[in-house]
Amino acid sequence: HIPVVCVDGPTASGKGTLAAVVAEKLGYHFLDSGSLYRITGLAATRAGIALEVANQEAIVALLRSLPIRFEGSHILLDGEDVSDAIRTEEAGMNASRVSAFPLVRGALVDFQRNFRQLPGLVADGRDMGTIIFPNAPLKVFLTASATCRAERRYKQLISKGIPAILADLRADLEARDARDSSRPVAPLKPAEDAQLLDNSDLTVDSSVEIVLDWWQS
Ligand code: C5P
Repeated sequence: HIPVVCVDGPTASGKGTLAAVVAEKLGYHFLDSGSLYRITGLAATRAGIALEVANQEAIVALLRSLPIRFEGSHILLDGEDVSDAIRTEEAGMNASRVSAFPLVRGALVDFQRNFRQLPGLVADGRDMGTIIFPNAPLKVFLTASATCRAERRYKQLISKGIPAILADLRADLEARDARDSSRPVAPLKPAEDAQLLDNSDLTVDSSVEIVLDWWQS
């Protein structure tokens, strides 16, 4: 059986960083499932489809017509590198909108499960442990206070020279979490057998160490 480590949690909790480092240390593949919803939101917006549940069939049809490829840390949508375009705050909000549509989630299930390949997978998202890989031997639910998450996101943007307002970032991430947690399909919540980790006061290295300890025990 091919091992999977799931890392789920709210926006800007540091899941992506933690999951990528753990994958590297274990020599496993890495799935950034949020990027799939980001791509879906981007593709639909570009095609002029309003991100409303009434349009979910059209959005899925579009998704099926556009090949998505991962090349290292780059993500290609129909051959175009969209790695930067999907990382904006707006793209995150649009991802959150389309991710509430059941047909969109359903269309991405097998695509995500196909990442489970030898020697193993670290999967980052919201429902990795609850829906996509329910039998995974290790499920981590990573959290951090909203203040802490907003500050991290702020520093990240400023360091890239992108102007940002801390209070707006915090309001955005709280709105996104509220939507992700209250939706009827795959709401953001820890799996029953998840290990909870609050990294508000932890460095990335110590969070990685904790997860690797769990993995080895
Ligand atoms: O993790 P990231 O911020 O890239 O995810 C963007 C959005 O995609 C999230 O706010 C969430 O609404 C959605 N998402 C999801 N299920 C996942 C990963 C992301 O619903 N497994």
